[in-house]
Amino acid sequence: MTAAVHVRNAVKSFDGVRVLDDIDLTAPGGQVTAVLGPSGSGKSTLLRTINHLERLDSGYVSIDGELVGVRVHGDRFKELGERAILRQRARIGFVFQDFNLFPHLTVLDNVVEAPIVTQQVPRAEAESRARALLARVGLAGREHAYPRQLSGGQQQRVAIARALALEPRLILLDEPTSALDPELVGEVLAVVRELAGSGTTMIVVTHEIAFAREIADHVVFLDAGRVVEQGPPSAVLDHPQHDRTREFLGKVT
Ligand code: ADP
Ligand code: MG
Repeated sequence: MTAAVHVRNAVKSFDGVRVLDDIDLTAPGGQVTAVLGPSGSGKSTLLRTINHLERLDSGYVSIDGELVGVRVHGDRFKELGERAILRQRARIGFVFQDFNLFPHLTVLDNVVEAPIVTQQVPRAEAESRARALLARVGLAGREHAYPRQLSGGQQQRVAIARALALEPRLILLDEPTSALDPELVGEVLAVVRELAGSGTTMIVVTHEIAFAREIADHVVFLDAGRVVEQGPPSAVLDHPQHDRTREFLGKVT
């Protein structure tokens, strides 16, 4: 299952400051979109909006033509009901910078929790799927460990298995390696690289430019809540058109 994501005229302010300032972007279905940009440029807010963790002030997001949230200037105003939001979110995998595992649950229980609770998958089936996913991310044998007993790289791989357990049509990853010690980055990138080849729509916020160049089909550069440029990696990363992009790439590479 894949889904194209369209963001149109998205505006979001916090305390009077426009954090998303009329964002238009498309993440093609079945492809990998990398979002780059300096700290504070609105990358996390953008992902959180797509996953209904934040509401737009105006504009809209759609996933395969299905609206995630829409606010139209003036009196025309429509938002999804709570049930529709939960149903949509149940098909979006979200991987956070700081893993966000449930500390009191074992690795296996972290992975089966959402399918059992939000998708009513029977426990035995959820567990057998979870074991297969944990093997896929290189964690066979660690099913009964608790998050605190794992390295950061292992915890993030559990978080990725947990996201995949939803059989998502869209996977959002917010700087999945930036909280990791350098020697643990590679093992997580390897799992993301494998996922990237699987044909699920993926949007990944990352500062790993070489990695973005390798796995992304589409690159979006954000600055101060605006899309400065977007296109294939060969254009945005290798032949950026804007000074702001060049300056950013010069700093991080
Ligand atoms: P990035 O992920 O690119 O670093 P964020 O989307 O996290 O950027 O944040 C963009 C701006 O919005 C920052 O200035 C941040 O402080 C602000 N911001 C984000 N979330 C909130 C919030 N819930 N309340 C107030 N300000 C916020
Ligand atoms: Mg962020």
